[in-house]
Amino acid sequence: MTTSQAPSPEELAELRERYRLERERRVRPDGARQYRGAEAEFGYYAADPYAGQTPEREPLRDTVDVAVVGGGFGGILAGARLRRQGVERIRIVEKGGDFGGTWYWNRYPGVHCDIESHVYLPLLDETGYVPRWKYAPGEEIRRHAMRIAEQYDLYSGALFSTAVTSLTWDEASEVWIVATDRGDEFRAAYVITATGTLSEPKLPGIPGIEDFRGHTFHTSRWDYAYTGGTPEGGMTGLADKRVGIVGTGATGVQVIPMLAEDAHHLHVFQRTPSTVDVRANRRTTGRDVGADRDGWARERRENFLRIVSGEGAEQDLVADGWTSSAVLLEKLLPSFRRQGDREAFEAAYEIADAAKMNEIRARVEATVTDPDAAEKLKPWYRYACKRPTFSDTYYQAFDRDNVTLVDTADTHGIERMTERGVVVGGTEYGLDCLVFATGFSVGVSGVLSGKLPVHGRGGVQLLHAWAQHGPRTLHGFTADGFPNLIQMGSLQNASSVNFTHVLDEQAVHAAALVAAAEAAGALIEPAREAEDAWIAALAEGAPDHEWFHAECTPGYYNREGLGRPNGPTAYPHGAVAFHDLLRRWREESLHEVLRPRTTARA
Ligand code: NDP
Repeated sequence: MTTSQAPSPEELAELRERYRLERERRVRPDGARQYRGAEAEFGYYAADPYAGQTPEREPLRDTVDVAVVGGGFGGILAGARLRRQGVERIRIVEKGGDFGGTWYWNRYPGVHCDIESHVYLPLLDETGYVPRWKYAPGEEIRRHAMRIAEQYDLYSGALFSTAVTSLTWDEASEVWIVATDRGDEFRAAYVITATGTLSEPKLPGIPGIEDFRGHTFHTSRWDYAYTGGTPEGGMTGLADKRVGIVGTGATGVQVIPMLAEDAHHLHVFQRTPSTVDVRANRRTTGRDVGADRDGWARERRENFLRIVSGEGAEQDLVADGWTSSAVLLEKLLPSFRRQGDREAFEAAYEIADAAKMNEIRARVEATVTDPDAAEKLKPWYRYACKRPTFSDTYYQAFDRDNVTLVDTADTHGIERMTERGVVVGGTEYGLDCLVFATGFSVGVSGVLSGKLPVHGRGGVQLLHAWAQHGPRTLHGFTADGFPNLIQMGSLQNASSVNFTHVLDEQAVHAAALVAAAEAAGALIEPAREAEDAWIAALAEGAPDHEWFHAECTPGYYNREGLGRPNGPTAYPHGAVAFHDLLRRWREESLHEVLRPRTTARA
């Protein structure tokens, strides 16, 4: 069955069985423990290849208004929105050597945004910038992060190549003490954490990595000194090299065609194939997106968010693979909301899903002429189980004579490395270089990781306070016992495939909280009852996705096949509804989280 027509009940039953078998081939009892972080003896995989020599500086002991942890888009947007509220002393602390976060670290060949740039790049109306491509290259996005930081004067207070190591609430003076790995210990009236979600590179926990005599690195720390070239290609250093790459997720799909062009020979070690849909990237002009109108970017990204959140819109301004599939689940949500019939919803979802996956598998067959490679490249799971990917050069790469696809599903991934290369199914593949496109540890950055201890009132540590009954927040941002601490990210908040949009709404909210507390001379701290009410709201109303992810092929979406963590982690009615809720709350109820100070503000 390779057409996109609606499948028959028999075909659906066959697919269900095939998906079950393919999932079983891949689930491992060790789940996320199969990986090892780029730390301790593997810390060099996370070293910064871009910053050059870190300049010496004296440790800081001063006081600022707001400390922001993280200089990716979350932190930059927080800074910009705070500036618009008139906040002066802002200090962004960032591990990398400059702003950009994900786009600072990920500079691998082929790196592009997989969401349309005109809705992904934030503050386009405010900066007047119009992206040049429908899907921007990484460097254009990184430059835009720097542009925002310059426009809102965020470089002046920033600390780069610096990691925050602890946050401690000082009861006596009602400020946070921010300690860093550069010996700083400065004070901040407010702290905003924007530490990102997929920022710590991970490696397969296989034996022998350290024995391999060839060269290795992770895609988020690309070694251009070894490969030569730039993110646009031209890796002349690989012309005589046997290169291997492990990983065929969103990163692998972008890198593999570039390596195929430049390597003498490329071995692609695949465990689970991605879905790779049409990309159709193209140059764009201001006229294409109506950039001469005030507020054009806001209108466009709201339109995109409505469609991918299942809210519907009269017009589809972006009109691409995301909006046409709307990741399927969201597309069907409006009718579920109207009818509330779970069975009808699931049945309609399964049919739409099977049709979409048939279309993707047909695309593989129509593009890849080698039947063996084509068979291995077909994905057998439901569309939203893994992040969908898009490329017009990926499948074509497997028709090249210098590319070999090695399927590793039966051995649960590459088995081990030797001095000479990689072993799969008893065969050793000799390599000069192995690239790890193996993704990032989930939930290990920021306050939830335990690597950034946060001590609130009475010295209570945030993770200890949450240990027994799980995280407790109001809207994901604030917590009882942790005054003037505002957390950005997806915990107990809303998410979307266009995460910069979500981050900007969070930044607006964070800045409004700070402005209100400043105006009232108060602290920001929700009551326990407000947290209880929020946790109850998270648990209510929408179809829970647990049943869906439980049957999915393993990956970071479902804790490597072991299911999602207990307790509600996200607002169930989607980002559009969440943003409306926050706007109303700011107008009507914000005063409820303001508590009197006992000291004068420093
Ligand atoms: P992923 O976690 O999505 O992919 C990791 C890959 O490594 C998977 O193919 C995985 O296989 C494979 N793998 C892991 N261990 C082994 C092993 N032992 N043997 C063989 N294969 C192995 O990481 P990515 O970096 O690709 O993407 C992470 C996220 O980053 C994306 O989901 C997306 O959110 C974001 N991203 C966004 C981009 C954008 O343009 N906006 C571009 C790139 C990434 P398996 O699937 O079987 O586990």
